[in-house]
Amino acid sequence: MTGGVSSPVRAFRAVGGEPPVVAYGRGAQVFDVDGNAYIDYVTAYGPLILGHAHPKVSGVIAAAADRGTAYGATTELEIELAELITSALPSIELVRFVNSGTEATMSALRLARAATGRDKVLKFEGGYHGHADGLLVQAGSGQATLSLPDSPGVPASWAADTLLAPYNDLEAVRRTFEKHGSEVAAVIVEPVAGNMGVVPPAQGFLAGLRSVTQKHGGLLIFDEVITGFRLCYGGAQRLFGVEPDLTCLGKIIGGGLPVGAYGGRRELMEMVAPIGPVYQAGTLAGNPLAMAAGIVSLSELQDPTAYQRLEVSAIYLEDGLRRSAQQAEVPVQINRVGSMLTLFFADSPVVDYACAKRSDTKRYAKFFHAMLERGVFLPPSQFEALFVSLAHTDPDIAVTVDAAAEALASLRNSTSTEN
Ligand SMILES: *Cc1c(COP(=O)(O)O)cnc(C)c1O
Repeated sequence: MTGGVSSPVRAFRAVGGEPPVVAYGRGAQVFDVDGNAYIDYVTAYGPLILGHAHPKVSGVIAAAADRGTAYGATTELEIELAELITSALPSIELVRFVNSGTEATMSALRLARAATGRDKVLKFEGGYHGHADGLLVQAGSGQATLSLPDSPGVPASWAADTLLAPYNDLEAVRRTFEKHGSEVAAVIVEPVAGNMGVVPPAQGFLAGLRSVTQKHGGLLIFDEVITGFRLCYGGAQRLFGVEPDLTCLGKIIGGGLPVGAYGGRRELMEMVAPIGPVYQAGTLAGNPLAMAAGIVSLSELQDPTAYQRLEVSAIYLEDGLRRSAQQAEVPVQINRVGSMLTLFFADSPVVDYACAKRSDTKRYAKFFHAMLERGVFLPPSQFEALFVSLAHTDPDIAVTVDAAAEALASLRNSTSTEN
């Protein structure tokens, strides 16, 4: 396998060292093939809000598999998950299931371009929306019209249709719309950024995107692949009270199996085949195992205490990390929204990608390994979110905070001697 992995961040390139090979997971823990146990805050990069191998999830997957793993025909499971999603997210009147978040965003953009007859898309620096060609564009010069692809193999002409603005910078968005407004099919945004590390939306940012897109006749797409059912039962759109035209989902709605979905207003979604001309399809889309896992996950999340419990655990973790950093006199910025959190080794608040990139990533790498040695598995990059699940208990978090206190203290010692 290239780099020994099926997805690059797993290879530990940002932190160095050899990633463990995982044997199994249970609750809040993963166990590697050498017999080491870790309290896991990667949780598959977001889907496992119930923890690893939740007995109900494993149970329904096994039961679904027993009845057949794919049919190429609609099942009751798809209908049921579609109903759960459309009733939890009122902006989604019709939904289409796909196999990944990448497929969801790429299909939503195709639809937005078809619906508006425009080609350009505005995304935010540090925003990740899967690996589709036109979306692998981030920093460049900050000059909207000079965006360059992030990866060789992406045609420069495609990247040229991707405009960029700094996250949380509504003025930059307005300026871009003044110049290109009539050419912009859509703004795509993570309503809480998770892929530059966690960065919450500034007060009024999402509402501002809503009004500027409306004014210029473009669509607003919320990429809720992480935030959907992570922050409340529904999307960040419910939490912040802003309705997008289209929403992309993934991760949690598949309960740990491969899944994605996009949806929105009926008249937009009726442009998609077979009703309309916008082509999009998938052999295994709406896979019954993924649908079954998604349904049972969402049902568990309907427990009125679920998000409260996540919030309490995440606050406990945040407070513990903050206290440990203060005691160790290591400057950090902790951004947290609900059960997603990033500890940045930075001196000043992190509100966008430029701020996030000023973090001390070498220090993060040391912290990551000091935690791993102490049996805590953090995301192997400064620019990823740490996820708390319902399986994380108070004792798990207490162990994590103790490990962090030691790890952060060791950082201060190591840096002072090295300097
Ligand atoms: C993970 C992610 C995606 C891509 O989903 P995949 O299932 O990995 O293709 C898209 N958008 C956001 C915000 C994500 O976090």
